Amino acid sequence: RSKEHGRGTYQLYSPAMNSKAPDLLALENGLRYAIERDELLLCYQPKINIQTGAIMGLEALIRWQHPERGLVSPATFIPLAEETGLIIEIGEWVLRTACQQTVEWHRQGLQPLSVAVNLSARQFFQPNLPEIVAQVLLQTQLDPQSLELEITETTAVKNMDFTKSVLAQLKDLGVHIAMDDFGTGYSSLNYLKELPFNTLKIDQSFIRDLKPKSKDVEIINAVLGLGRGLKLDIVAEGVDSEEQLTVLQSLECEIVQGYLFSRPLPADEITKQLEANWLDRKNRNLINRRFK
Ligand code: C2E
Ligand code: MG
Ligand code: MG
Ligand code: MG
Repeated sequence: RSKEHGRGTYQLYSPAMNSKAPDLLALENGLRYAIERDELLLCYQPKINIQTGAIMGLEALIRWQHPERGLVSPATFIPLAEETGLIIEIGEWVLRTACQQTVEWHRQGLQPLSVAVNLSARQFFQPNLPEIVAQVLLQTQLDPQSLELEITETTAVKNMDFTKSVLAQLKDLGVHIAMDDFGTGYSSLNYLKELPFNTLKIDQSFIRDLKPKSKDVEIINAVLGLGRGLKLDIVAEGVDSEEQLTVLQSLECEIVQGYLFSRPLPADEITKQLEANWLDRKNRNLINRRFK
């Protein structure tokens, strides 16, 4: 185990893991060939401005179409890819695919969309991440401003000096940086002071049971206040009901992402919907219904 994994990540073999091992091993072997066998699929979920209904950008979310198991969730295979180091290759594939696709959307004149790409810890701590990002931007010709990289709090705080230096290099390239799953890690205000984030994504756990006059409301309100003060975009993740939407609108939250507006969809479906302006129309309907 390398140092970059930090302390406390040693795992002892337990009987429970033992029984899972052959299964995981098979999955891991499959993952090794998933790229060359063309089994990986990148989906995109829109981020919506709930004051206007406009699509602000898309988050790229990976799927694995396993030949026997069907769709495998990233929650299952990303940790496996992390553990085995396959995440480096997969992560670069995600970055390149998302950038290429976004340039394609720009060429079609659909919308000045930006794309967000998730970075796992091991990817973030690879020594040449800024070079890889620079290279992909150059090769795909994507405007760096149209790319946002998402890292979690837990990743950010593993090694603050390293994080600071990598984020500074990424910012120099012109890309945006988002903190994903905000509120589930250490949430120290120090990180907001020290690290150059453009966006905070409020974790879905604060949205899930969102009701008027709840603690969640106060917490979200405080984060929105931080966002206004620090000039950060705040995104509410996992909005899947009209009740949640109503509360968020009353708090003057601007950007949300969630099943209520759209599930993550393959690129060609996003294209169709952007062409038909369907998402925009659907969003406006949802939003207007709230106000009328
Ligand atoms: P995340 O980055 O926090 O992504 C948000 C997750 O919430 C996605 O799950 C998305 O499909 C789901 N979601 C969106 N709207 C709703 C909603 O209204 N309700 C509910 N219940 N869920 C919603 P997904 O796609 O299964 O991804 C899970 C996690 O896997 C991601 O969390 C991210 O940490 C990781 N992941 C996904 N794609 C990639 C990737 O390309 N690279 C890396 N390193 N990690 C990825
Ligand atoms: Mg994310
Ligand atoms: Mg998240
Ligand atoms: Mg998450």
